[in-house]
Amino acid sequence: MPEQPPLLLVADLMTSQRRWNASLIWRNFDQHVAKKILATHIPDDDEPDLLRWGGTRSGKYSFKSGYWYQNRGVLTSSYDNEKFWKALWKLNIFPKWKHFCWKIIHRILPTKINLQKRGVTTDVACPFCNQAPETEAHIFRLCPLARMVWRSSQLGINSDSQASVPIQEWLVNFLHYFYNQDGKNEERVVQLISTLWGIWLHRNEIIFRGMSANPERILELAQSHALRWKQTKEVKARQAAKTPTNGKNTHLQISIWRAGACTTTDYFSIVVDAAWKRKKKVKQKEWEAAIGWAEDCNQSTSCSGSKKIFAHDSLQAECYAILEGTKMAANISKNVVVKTDCKEAVVALKDETTVAANILTIIQQIKQEARKLDYYVCIKVSRDSVAKAHNLAQQERKGFSV
Ligand SMILES: [Zn+2]
Repeated sequence: MPEQPPLLLVADLMTSQRRWNASLIWRNFDQHVAKKILATHIPDDDEPDLLRWGGTRSGKYSFKSGYWYQNRGVLTSSYDNEKFWKALWKLNIFPKWKHFCWKIIHRILPTKINLQKRGVTTDVACPFCNQAPETEAHIFRLCPLARMVWRSSQLGINSDSQASVPIQEWLVNFLHYFYNQDGKNEERVVQLISTLWGIWLHRNEIIFRGMSANPERILELAQSHALRWKQTKEVKARQAAKTPTNGKNTHLQISIWRAGACTTTDYFSIVVDAAWKRKKKVKQKEWEAAIGWAEDCNQSTSCSGSKKIFAHDSLQAECYAILEGTKMAANISKNVVVKTDCKEAVVALKDETTVAANILTIIQQIKQEARKLDYYVCIKVSRDSVAKAHNLAQQERKGFSV
């Protein structure tokens, strides 16, 4: 590729008749920016630093920002800027990308030069070109391979212009620029980061997997990761659309209460349920409710049972079921999982403070039993999942005890 003359000033983008040099602008900027520049009115008077354009918040296409776009200077103050980090951390991009940028900016990415400083290596040659020490600035911007990659990208970045601007400033400026321009549409931020990411991944492929340097591979990696980001974003958006905005989205919340530490995958799992029905007239000696429990497996099992109980309400009955299930399971294993379809009961285990008095003592006893074990979990599951226990409890309540 022939070298272009350096663009130093906004005026360099104009013809001698004070018109925009369209072909030069199309060559040097991506469509988005080029259109904005070309749509900017050039005033008749000769004050290049007061040109207006729609691209900055102030509406002023300042000398400084034109200067900046070609990396002639630093538009924003510094990368210690708290605002910058807040904005970066808020971006809807992969967390690993945020950390990656953070590492580049703080000069702690394990480039060969950084490793040499820590005494880890003596080989500092760029794995792409073998012609220069591997610094961040070199592999990400100045290496012939990196230049090729940026030239092929749609971002309109001349990575080798103003090589004296430190890579950290360079990156921060571009992130800032795209962020300010595009707002919630992170596509260009993502293109920028995924390109850097592709460079880094390919660099690792060469060092650790013996691949040979290939700029196309970098573009391929960058594109596939950008695509992955896009898909993730779409999935998230679909999930968010499904989530009702009014009221709590209860079905996505997991209710679980635990005690002890899980040190094994060998635990005993039991499903429990209660059958309780409000009666209009309570006859004396009538069993009001029943509970059932069964090992949570597909085979028929010796560990199952049911029992008639008295209960004031369904929640109390469910708590009894959990207590009984817990005791049964504790006879078999020190690691117990109890599954119930009653969310309220699990919530009560998690937070006793709002629990009614008739429930509280049962909750406390469940916890006592649980703490005798190595590991205990009580988890809310679907109604279908506790069907075995449900049937046992129903039969028991109706008097067909097995
Ligand atoms: Zn190189």
